[in-house]
Parts: sequence; C-alpha cells; structure tokens
Amino acid sequence: MSVLSRPELGAWPDLGYVGSVLDRAAHLRAHACEPSGALLSDPAAGFYLLGGELVALKGDGPVFDPLFSRAEAQARGRGEPLFLGLDNGAPRFALAFDPGLREELEGQGLKVTDLRSIAVGGLVLPRHLPPIACGKALFGWHGRHGFCANCGTASRILDGGWRRDCPSCGAQHFPRTDPVVIMLTAAGDKCLMGRQPHFAPGMWSCLAGFVEPGETIEEAVRRETLEEAGIATGRVTYRSCQPWPFPMSLMIGCLAQATSRDIVIDRNELEDARWFDRDEAALMLARTHPDGLFVPPPIAIAHHLIRAFVEGIDA
Ligand SMILES: [Zn+2]
Repeated sequence: MSVLSRPELGAWPDLGYVGSVLDRAAHLRAHACEPSGALLSDPAAGFYLLGGELVALKGDGPVFDPLFSRAEAQARGRGEPLFLGLDNGAPRFALAFDPGLREELEGQGLKVTDLRSIAVGGLVLPRHLPPIACGKALFGWHGRHGFCANCGTASRILDGGWRRDCPSCGAQHFPRTDPVVIMLTAAGDKCLMGRQPHFAPGMWSCLAGFVEPGETIEEAVRRETLEEAGIATGRVTYRSCQPWPFPMSLMIGCLAQATSRDIVIDRNELEDARWFDRDEAALMLARTHPDGLFVPPPIAIAHHLIRAFVEGIDA
C-alpha cells in the first residue's frame, strides 16, 4: 500500500469530499460548544445546516453559500452544534435541522437539497464539501448512537460532538467510520463492473464491500470480488480513498488483477456483472456509449478507478 500525498490527490481534482482545508483543532473541542464560549461567539463563526440527507444553502446560485451565522442557524436548527474545526482561523460548526421543515426553509428563500446533488451539480465551492460530509457523517453517527452500546443507558455528547459518554457505566464512545473496499478488477484488456439493483438504468460501477474484522484491505478486495462475481484475484494495489458520508464510510479505492474469467453472480448483492473492454469503458466514462451505458460521475472514486484502467494503469 502506498500513501498518496496531496499532489497525487491533485490529479483527481473533481473527486468529491476530499482535500479538506479545515484544521480540525482537536485541542479546542472540549470547550468548543459552550454557549458563551469564544468559538461559538466568534463573529466569524460559520454554521452548516444539515437535515438528514439535506443541506440548506443561501444565495441565488449557480454556486450557493452553505454557511450561516450563529443567529441564522439557531433560528432554523435544533440540538447541539458539532465543532468541525477552523477554516483559516474561523470556527466552523454543523447544526441539524428537521428535514420536515424543508418546505418552510424553501419558503424563506433557501435552497434545500441533498448532498449528492450538491456535489454532482457543483452547487457549493469544493472547499465546503469535506466539512459538510464530515458533519453529515457525525450527525449520522449520533443519530444511531444515542444509547450506550455497553449498557443501554442514554449517553451524552461531549468534545464538540466527537465523543459520547455513558453516565451509568462510564464507557466512552467515539465516532466511527466504516471502511469499504471499492475495486476495479482487470483481466488484460477487460475490466469487471457490476450493477446493484438500486442503480439508475444503464449505470455500471466497480464492485465494493465492507472490510470485515480481522481482514486486510487486500483480503477484503479478493473476498468481495470472489463473493459477488466469482472472480479470483491476485495482485491488489491501493490507489486512493474518499470519505463517503452515506452514511459514514471511507471508500478505499483499489485496482486488482483477475486470475480467473468465468463470472458467477451473487444475485443477493448484484443485479448483473460482466466484463467490459477498454474502449467500451472509455465510452461509458464519456457518456457516449451507444447503448446509453455509463459509470458514476467524477465526484465518486469509482469514476477514477475506471479512468485509471482506461488509461492503462494496472494493479
Ligand atoms: Zn454504559
């Protein structure tokens, strides 16, 4: 495994949710959300307003402003803010709103839409995508972890949203992210892609699956490729990774070399899987395939793994 440096990530400038400019400033978390504290009271503080899958935006577009002042945010949000870090010294928080208020917020002139649409449509400056993704994943974790996993008592939020403590058994709980391998497996001039039942008609993508306890990334790639498509793989190389806040994953992008050819589809996981040759994959990337087939957009790491194959990069 290689660790990619920033210049290498720069080769994929349109990959979504990566390249955060925020200083997470973990040393400030303990007091970050005190109501009269310096960070919440900072006039430069900016709040992202997130409601489940939705994000509230200001302005007229085509590029909107996702940052609200404390007063603007508190008038629309609920619950405790999460401290995301410092953007050039300016505190950044996330505050949740009730998704049921969508129409009301739209009536106030805000644009309210989901994070995927924002990323695909370029509705905010790219610098805002990582903190929004971070806030969404954090809220997702809090939403599912209100009670101590050790004893079942309601837990409480600490450290600006980066910890939950149990008042009964004393257990401390920290936000998690789920590692997922996503891989493009190649056999010479062909690559393996699959379709999940929920995909839009015509879309094909890399296979993917959760890393299991006790497993390396390479082992997860080999197991998932064998389980889902019956294809054995040999060499696996890591390319890059991407936070994927749906709800809270880290997509670990790999290339793999197939050592078998005959596909056996696990219909519980995939609707279909097949080999595509390099030329066909290129047409799907460019969205000029004669049958209307296509691959995910550049915000998704799958797009870049498929592009790497089309450009002749091997595992
Ligand atoms: Zn407990």
